[in-house]
Amino acid sequence: MKFVYDFSEGNKDLKDLLGGKGANLAEMTNLGLPVPPGFTITTEACQRFLRQGTHADGLTAEIDEHLAALESAMGRELGDPADPLLVSVRSGAKFSMPGMMETVLNVGLNDASVDGLSRQAGGNDRFAWDSYRRLIQMFGKTVCEVPGHEFEDALHEAKTAKGVTDDVDLDAGDLRALVTAYKKVFVKHTGHDFPQDPREQLDQAVEAVFRSWNADRAILYRRQERIPADLGTAVNVVAMVFGNLGADSGTGVAFTRDPATGEQGVYGDYLSNAQGEDVVAGIRNTLSLADLERLDKRSYDELMQIMATLEGHYRDLCDIEFTIERGKLWMLQTRVGKRTAAAAFTIAAQLVDEGVIDLDEALTRVTGGQLAQLMFPRFDLSGDPESLTRGIGASPGAAFGEVVFTSRRAVEVAAEGRPVILVRRETNPDDLPGMIAANGILTSRGGKTSHAAVVARGMGKTCVCGADRMEVSAASFAIGSHIVREGDTISVDGTTGRVYLGEVPVRPSEVVQYFEGDLDPARANDPLVAAVHRILTHADATRRLRVRTNADTGADAARARRFGAQGIGLCRTEHMFLGDRRELVERLILARSDAERAEALSALQPLQRADFLEIFREMNGLPVTVRLIDPPLHEFLPSLEELAVKVAVQQEHGEPDEKDEQLLAAVRRMHEQNPMLGLRGVRLGLVIPGLFAMQVRAIAEAAVALAAEGGNPRPEIMVPLVGAVQELETVRAEAERIIAEVVGSANVRILIGTMIEVPRAALTAGQIAEAAEFFSFGTNDLTQMGWGFSRDDVEGAFFWRYLELGIFGISPFESIDADGVGRLVRIATDEGRAARPDLKLGVCGEHGGDPDSVHFFHRVGLDYVSCSPFRVPIARLEAGRAAVTAEGSDHR
Ligand code: ADP
Ligand code: MG
Ligand code: MG
Repeated sequence: MKFVYDFSEGNKDLKDLLGGKGANLAEMTNLGLPVPPGFTITTEACQRFLRQGTHADGLTAEIDEHLAALESAMGRELGDPADPLLVSVRSGAKFSMPGMMETVLNVGLNDASVDGLSRQAGGNDRFAWDSYRRLIQMFGKTVCEVPGHEFEDALHEAKTAKGVTDDVDLDAGDLRALVTAYKKVFVKHTGHDFPQDPREQLDQAVEAVFRSWNADRAILYRRQERIPADLGTAVNVVAMVFGNLGADSGTGVAFTRDPATGEQGVYGDYLSNAQGEDVVAGIRNTLSLADLERLDKRSYDELMQIMATLEGHYRDLCDIEFTIERGKLWMLQTRVGKRTAAAAFTIAAQLVDEGVIDLDEALTRVTGGQLAQLMFPRFDLSGDPESLTRGIGASPGAAFGEVVFTSRRAVEVAAEGRPVILVRRETNPDDLPGMIAANGILTSRGGKTSHAAVVARGMGKTCVCGADRMEVSAASFAIGSHIVREGDTISVDGTTGRVYLGEVPVRPSEVVQYFEGDLDPARANDPLVAAVHRILTHADATRRLRVRTNADTGADAARARRFGAQGIGLCRTEHMFLGDRRELVERLILARSDAERAEALSALQPLQRADFLEIFREMNGLPVTVRLIDPPLHEFLPSLEELAVKVAVQQEHGEPDEKDEQLLAAVRRMHEQNPMLGLRGVRLGLVIPGLFAMQVRAIAEAAVALAAEGGNPRPEIMVPLVGAVQELETVRAEAERIIAEVVGSANVRILIGTMIEVPRAALTAGQIAEAAEFFSFGTNDLTQMGWGFSRDDVEGAFFWRYLELGIFGISPFESIDADGVGRLVRIATDEGRAARPDLKLGVCGEHGGDPDSVHFFHRVGLDYVSCSPFRVPIARLEAGRAAVTAEGSDHR
């Protein structure tokens, strides 16, 4: 097995083996671009090292060989005191993990070769000592775990002592003294001297990069980003070129298009007389590429040409890192660049216009997650609000409100009708009421899998986590000297992680306005809106999955239709029992005779019919799946505690109220230990005579009424919580009788089917299909019952721990657990279709709008997904993407 590849041996498709950086360095080398020579040690070598704790057999010999080749290509030997070759040792995994792993520059410098380097540079002592101190600093930090701030403190001291603020103002003598100071820091923390042997430096740096794969923060990052843990990182050993040789040298980063907006035209930052990360570290103010053009026209022109070559070659936005050494341009890195959601859409459409990619490929260049980001309301930053700090955008959205520091206070302020931002160091299950009451959540600790983040995402609430510059105390928080107190107003942006002082106005997203058909005409030509329109239209033309919505009202149905819904996959009927209808429901529940019950039901029936008619009208011509009542009836009654207190008080005062007493008795009777597993769904329909019949009649009558108006109703009656075909058969027999009676000779056809949400239903789908014209997978309940999780309890109680331990990478309520719950879906699909080939299959529940889940449902072969109106465009896009992406391919 070969463990080391010269840059001339690799190419961009070998990312698994060479990592992204190595594969692209090889690609650029093969394109004939000016890349300093070097070689890549494979991810396979890393995996072996991590498994066995030592180098793979033969690795050392291969490194020797490639190092010798590099030395002869460069005409210099590593660390030669007279004329040293220096190298960088750079990590580079398959997926970029920004800031997660490290790089050591200037390997090969020591007390002797520092003089050789100075001579190479024409007697530039300052440069040589600056390079040496950088090596000790980077080597100390990344290889030997010396706390980085110790070096920074020493550097700061050196500058203060000299009365300067800029690194460039330190001269050779200052830097030589700094090297001495750094060496002391090094010995103090490691117990040994900074290694002088160049080869030992190299070997230790390589091992450190290997080990960095398993550093805590890298592990955490991989879990968050769902990057497999066993890939390992490659190591690139690259001959050094120097941007810190003087004013004719420098280093920079550039993008072939603007990664923020997607706007055409190069974009970048340059810093003269600098090395490595100085540009991004914000040490000095950077120059623009236009400035570089003035400083060094030749290098600039070459850079432009190379960028055009790279874009043409990768057929996408590229970002690059480059260094200019005494007027000679060197390419140090390129990759297909990260970009904002808006830029992703705009660039994909631009590339189609430019004839670089076709629309199918454009679909693979954007994601539903990015579209979702574009649909959240956003802060209008035109007033230039004061930015307080920045954390991790953990749950998107834009929220402002009064700062509160306790869950209790959040509930109080919200009850007074004012918006609240709950600020905590971190949250725990006790904070749940406050989190529910708050408009937004801000924490100073924890990442995307912290309790706050997981719970907020579950609730769809704006959340920023880990704003670690923020010191949170009991009734205030501080950012530097700035104090924000309880009652002050702040605004948090859960997409960007930014926190602002005061109330920043929120404006709706253009993309949503476009869907709604009320986009400001001035924005009609907005390139982003045009790009979204174009790509979504293509997704619609490409996808096999149809997209329906979950909607319970005419208004929701109408909105979902504007968002592109092709019907309703789940119309819940329970809301139709709330509000001023509660009284009728109470009568139904308290009925002491069949006659009383029938009376309550017949009072409810016309109300239901009117509800259905409105929805059928809005969805005229499209299917509407109506679910018969699902939740347990006691959910419609007052709470046990409140009622018990009320009755006790009445009795105390000698004024008993018979109705309340009956109600209390009923609530007690219906109380369940596990309501989710209790008397609900079809069970309720079989126990309360006339309840389902009333709903079926209302549906049938509404359909007949719409048909009489000349409309085309397409109702589908869905029976919830079926676990056995006999349950469905019983309901079906009665429903068919009622439908026949109501419909008569009218041209109305009503399907009858069931939800598959109890594991037993999935496992006996072949039998159930005999009695069902369609299945709709209720994946929320299927997940609850498949895992044995009570959703309301587990998300706040322990999901954060499961995520931390990697038991799952994402909550199974957010994205379908393909291996377990998904297997139930597959079984039911296959056995259901075998029994009834024209069985219609869909899914309702939030998984229907989750990108990964949509791809799964496409692969399983369902006919449609159904999701909330807002997720409809996302499901449309992802269904299109699923249709053009090859099976099992990676759409990260
Ligand atoms: P990251 O993955 O964090 O971008 P890199 O391996 O790209 O880390 O290294 C960081 C910076 O170090 C690069 O941007 C480049 O400026 C500098 N660098 C790396 N290798 C060399 C080299 N051989 N010569 C000069 N500079 C280098
Ligand atoms: Mg880099
Ligand atoms: Mg359910």
